[in-house]
Amino acid sequence: MSLRTRFGPAGVPPMFRVMGLKTMTDVPRLLHEEGLDAFEYQASRWGAKPQIKQADAQKLGEAARQNDVRLSMHGSYFINLVGKKEVAEASKERILAAVTAADWMSAYVVVFHTGFYGKFDKDYALKTSIAELKEVSSRMKSMGIKAKLGPETMGRKSQIGGIDEIIAINREVENTQLVVDWGHLHALHQGSFKTVDDMRRVASKIEQELGTQTLRSMHCHFSKIEFGASGEKCHHTLDEAAYGPEFAMLAEVILEFGMHPTMICETPILDVDARKMKETLEQVIAQKQM
Ligand SMILES: [Zn+2]
Repeated sequence: MSLRTRFGPAGVPPMFRVMGLKTMTDVPRLLHEEGLDAFEYQASRWGAKPQIKQADAQKLGEAARQNDVRLSMHGSYFINLVGKKEVAEASKERILAAVTAADWMSAYVVVFHTGFYGKFDKDYALKTSIAELKEVSSRMKSMGIKAKLGPETMGRKSQIGGIDEIIAINREVENTQLVVDWGHLHALHQGSFKTVDDMRRVASKIEQELGTQTLRSMHCHFSKIEFGASGEKCHHTLDEAAYGPEFAMLAEVILEFGMHPTMICETPILDVDARKMKETLEQVIAQKQM
């Protein structure tokens, strides 16, 4: 895999289905034809067992390799590592099901939401999350699983997943991949990304605490986002001027820090906006070279 910023959608673009898409195996080719090179497979409704056949997952992985598309996976939405014991146990099984299938298709990371504070204080919630994920990580090691754990930065005040928490989990737990959803951070902090410098500060913090390699190879989610007092409300397209953050600011940061993230577009027009982000990065690079 060459070290470059890759772009792709979170899930199958609706237009592909209109175009008569029959099997998941065709998705990498259609993305390649659009000039995209990443795809996040949505396993967000899965329970404790993979809901794709191993053979089908392998075919998807092979199609992705042939079309130079990097695969990642979004794990179950029904995960709470800080919930009641039975909830935490079921959550760990769901993560293990996802990483198992991720290996079948050679997806490099399973992105997931760590959980909710509920009645606990933040410190307890973080320590519990780390302890549970250490157990998941060691079970993955004994199962010989290669896919990485990708706890994501979250957009609501009720959710575990501030940047400091995600940094702490990445530092403490083996076999993790840094996952930064920039829209979520923007929503969590009430629209905090107003200038390039606001994003630069996050990149610098990550570099200081986790190192240059981890910064440069982060996995990203991006969309414009609407928020209220408690954080994230919903995702918006890149063209909607009323909402932030602007992708052009992140493109500046990517260039400045020599980053090569996998950039997953989570706006309502998945692949269309992924292409727009790719063009924006190319424009920022071209401007700097003039
Ligand atoms: Zn997510």
